Amino acid sequence: MEFLPYRYPRVRSPTQKLGPIGYCIYCSVTGSEVQLTDEHIVPDGLGGDLVLAQASCKSCAAKTSRAERRLQKDVMQFARNVVRVSSRKRKKPEPFVSVEFESSNDGDETKVAFNDDTPFIFPFITTDELPGILRNANGDHVPKLRISLFGPPNWNEQGQKWLKGNGKFKWGTRFHAGIVGQALAKIAHSYACATIGPGAFEPLLNEYILAKEPPFDGHHIGIYPSDGFDKALHYIDLQVANAPHKTVLGLSYRAVYVVYLRLFAFQPSPSILVAVGTPKGELNPAIKMMDLTQTF
Ligand SMILES: [Zn+2]
Repeated sequence: MEFLPYRYPRVRSPTQKLGPIGYCIYCSVTGSEVQLTDEHIVPDGLGGDLVLAQASCKSCAAKTSRAERRLQKDVMQFARNVVRVSSRKRKKPEPFVSVEFESSNDGDETKVAFNDDTPFIFPFITTDELPGILRNANGDHVPKLRISLFGPPNWNEQGQKWLKGNGKFKWGTRFHAGIVGQALAKIAHSYACATIGPGAFEPLLNEYILAKEPPFDGHHIGIYPSDGFDKALHYIDLQVANAPHKTVLGLSYRAVYVVYLRLFAFQPSPSILVAVGTPKGELNPAIKMMDLTQTF
């Protein structure tokens, strides 16, 4: 397997504007009632270039951008700096990031400068399960979460060299799994709205996306076994899954729209699955059917 070099500069694609929707895709308030804002699908700060016009009210935008900021700063800041992804507003990425080292006193932060030896690594919350809804799991089932480090195949060697003298990384002190899940749910929901339109499905995640500090939603968010990489900075696709579903007559199947998401797809990052909704009306035959027989 071959990987793309992570060091080459990531050229941003021009922004692609989709829509307009004309109402808030989270709370359904319409453009005649409040002013609507354009919604970035993958956050601008992660190099997202898809925008859904007039799709969020200001109140929902405040909630979703809070979760996105946490995803960017707590989880992805290190990776963003190494691959030089910056938001459009701030032309240059910050040359430093604050990290906590295990050798430091509690709460101490060290400023780390980025140079050519800095490894591309990022910690991410994962499970080793498909979303519960695709496994006929009870909605109360709590997935086992863990924090894994992702990076190029030699990141360990590179990372150890780079970390020498700095002690050992203490990732994870600021992780809030529920808020990371919320940001992923927001990306997936807005992507589904951009591709098939918010009227084409019964949304499953709006309450979760707008909640204050929810626990991780393993019923709708999980991962998919994968390898390989994509040339894109991020990879996102809407698919449909035939989810097993218990009824009084036994097991039946129902269609569920699922967004397949890989952030930093040019490296072996996790493939996240987010179940976003159930179809209203006919299924579009152009949407790929997901193979749920893949195992971990
Ligand atoms: Zn709203």
